[in-house]
Amino acid sequence: MSLVEEIIAANAEFAEAFDAANIPIPPRRKLAILTCMDARIYPNKIFGLHEGDAHIIRNAGGRAADALRSLAISQELMGTREIVVLHHNDCGLLGRSNAEIRSRLVSSLGKVAMQPAANLDFLPWPDVEQALRNEMYDIQTSPLIRPGTPVTGFIYDEETGLIRQVDALA
Ligand code: ZN
Repeated sequence: MSLVEEIIAANAEFAEAFDAANIPIPPRRKLAILTCMDARIYPNKIFGLHEGDAHIIRNAGGRAADALRSLAISQELMGTREIVVLHHNDCGLLGRSNAEIRSRLVSSLGKVAMQPAANLDFLPWPDVEQALRNEMYDIQTSPLIRPGTPVTGFIYDEETGLIRQVDALA
């Protein structure tokens, strides 16, 4: 079975037991979660959430710069009022540099990738805790986010499943 055949078969099984119809679009718990795309992070399980509870916005590293469009829409159009940022200890973006990522793209894809890669900030970071504080600050001070929105930061430990809260910048 190919990968696509596998996921199509899995979906048929999922739909068989499906019981999440007719859920309203605005998240019931008025919560938006920003996190990394890392395949080990299952936000719904980590936070005990279910269909319809929260927006989950994901990208490489869980970076705010990549997520402001979605966070603004989440608040303005869908009524969310609280934001959680979930970073994690063993992020694949940790310790990388723009130079490294750009050079790998150019080696893989050729010269055509050079200019687009140079124009893109891949938002790597050297320190997960510092990065999380910066993310929280960037969200809280963004003119696109409602003033006074509670923004809470956590770091997830892939070894234990536990989260640890990190305070925002003073
Ligand atoms: Zn990550």
